[in-house]
Amino acid sequence: MDTIGTICPFCGCGSGTYLRVNDDEVVGAYPILKHPVNRGKLCVRGWWSNQCLKSTSRLKSPMIRKGESLKEVEWDEALDFCSSKLLEIRKSSGGHSLGVIGSPALTNEDAFVLMKFARTILKTNTVDGSYRFSSSATLSLLNQSLGIWTNGIASFENLEKANAVIVIGGNIFQEFPDVIGARILEARDNGAKIILIDPLRDKPQRFVNIHLKPRPPALISLINAMSNLLIQNGLSRFEAGKEFIKKIKSFAIEFPGIPTSSIEEATKIYAQSNNSIIVYCSDELTDPNLIRSLINLAILSGHINGPEQGLIPISRSPNLQGACDMGLVPDLLSGYQDIDKEETKAPFEKHWGVKLPLDKGLTIHEALDPDQKVKGLLIAGDNLLGKLPSPELIKSLKEMDFIAVFDGFLTDTCNLAHVVFPISPPGECDGTFTNLEGRVQSLGKIGDSKIGKPLWSIISKLSDKMKHPLKYTSDQAIFEEIKALTPLYSQVSLNEKAGMFLPRRKSKPKMFVVDETPINEPPKEFPFSLIVKNTLSSWGRNTLVKASPILKREYLEERTEAKVNPSDSKSLGLRPGDKIKITSKDGEVIASVGLDNSVVEGTVVFHSHFVDSISSLLGKGKVDPQTKGIYYKDTFVRVGKA
Ligand code: SF4
Repeated sequence: MDTIGTICPFCGCGSGTYLRVNDDEVVGAYPILKHPVNRGKLCVRGWWSNQCLKSTSRLKSPMIRKGESLKEVEWDEALDFCSSKLLEIRKSSGGHSLGVIGSPALTNEDAFVLMKFARTILKTNTVDGSYRFSSSATLSLLNQSLGIWTNGIASFENLEKANAVIVIGGNIFQEFPDVIGARILEARDNGAKIILIDPLRDKPQRFVNIHLKPRPPALISLINAMSNLLIQNGLSRFEAGKEFIKKIKSFAIEFPGIPTSSIEEATKIYAQSNNSIIVYCSDELTDPNLIRSLINLAILSGHINGPEQGLIPISRSPNLQGACDMGLVPDLLSGYQDIDKEETKAPFEKHWGVKLPLDKGLTIHEALDPDQKVKGLLIAGDNLLGKLPSPELIKSLKEMDFIAVFDGFLTDTCNLAHVVFPISPPGECDGTFTNLEGRVQSLGKIGDSKIGKPLWSIISKLSDKMKHPLKYTSDQAIFEEIKALTPLYSQVSLNEKAGMFLPRRKSKPKMFVVDETPINEPPKEFPFSLIVKNTLSSWGRNTLVKASPILKREYLEERTEAKVNPSDSKSLGLRPGDKIKITSKDGEVIASVGLDNSVVEGTVVFHSHFVDSISSLLGKGKVDPQTKGIYYKDTFVRVGKA
């Protein structure tokens, strides 16, 4: 029996895991006891991460669409087909009619090679990541304001040393119990005060000192109210902020159901503690104005520069930081180097021996706009179809002239593809992930995959066929190229057992104007606030979770239930299981009603995996011009018997 040390492939915490191997077969996963991230613990996903490798849903061979269905073919046939289609589109319509969408689950090496392939061989800057529908606001605004992307503190260890922690958005304690949840509780044991801001009453409330439960429309207003209280009470440590905050009008002083004294108390605790941290799930808080408000609050309080201060956005993807670091961003090369500046672009052109395309790259949703005339997409490592938030974008993807998918598992997106390539999943590939601390860690593999191939090697073979060979032979060679071209990674050594930290970037803090009219109460005709919640069962849509029988069982998708507080159900004359009609200004859905004491009166909770139902209520998502992320504003609904 052998053991292979690697990194859990599920979320951005990057827990150290051993895979146990018997006769070439992986038989178990367990935590690395002394790993500094998870310190001998794993959450349920980590404990069963080995099962994905034996999944029956793994792609076994390349496939080409023949008629209505995909047929297994030899590697050479699939590569010939794909390369000839790409060359054909590039020749007839230009490189800008092609696009590449990577995933924050790809290794750094795969993401870098994908980015390079797009810009040097396809001749397009339309290179984006599927994070666009979730963490985009966080990524862009943290970078603009603090010069960081996802890693807000020096290391997870510092979280234990904080004196105050605000937890907002996402069920952090249940979703990330072994790494983040455990550390927040340790901080509390060390004397820290914990402030939970969540409209759902939930189990962790017994661990917290203050639990503020604003209805969703009041969330931004509440954070801005805290910023104003901080100024009014002379608690700000950021001089320039005092003038700036006058520009922010989107706040109220009174919030239904929340005693003003609790807001004042929470503000005081957060501002007066020596070291305060804000923890949130970046896949959950997607409204750019909410992220702007949180960043403002952190800057005003002065809790942004120390190792035990700042914002910690948690991601449900294992390599969100790395994918962005590697340039899966339309206008940036690896290490956030501008593609349109001569001084940053020149080293890449010299090293790669090509001129980089000048066309402006598109984000995913721009690429799916029929007016942009993108004809072919390469989608790597993600079930994009399951993430598209509106029927219009889904229709556009389905109508694309050519789609090549690179994935380890058979997903809904594969079923739209013209050609599919099986890639080797974590556990069967080398490479590195960069976790949310900015810790670059090497993956271990149980052996070469008998089914798939590393993405970079498939892309290399495609480049051969397209007469512009990239000539990669190993992950290490790619990492050396990353180091040579990316100052952020230039000092990273892969010899450190528990990974090595990227240097911390710092810039002058920049506050944001939050241009939003405060709404603290729903309108009369739609008296309920709709909460679209990514609960634990949302993990049930994750491709790796679906690939594991035990995890599938753990993250059972809940029934299409809309949950309401029992007192609301009583006043509406509803009983559990009754059919109800939920109506918003954009549409209506029929659902059955479920009762839940954790739901605040006046709210209806729907789970995000009911994609069709939700999109009819939410209408089209909004595109934020500054961050280019798609997000939904608060939605108000009417509820009645169907
Ligand atoms: S917290 Fe994240 S990295 Fe750690 S075991 Fe769970 S899913 Fe894996």
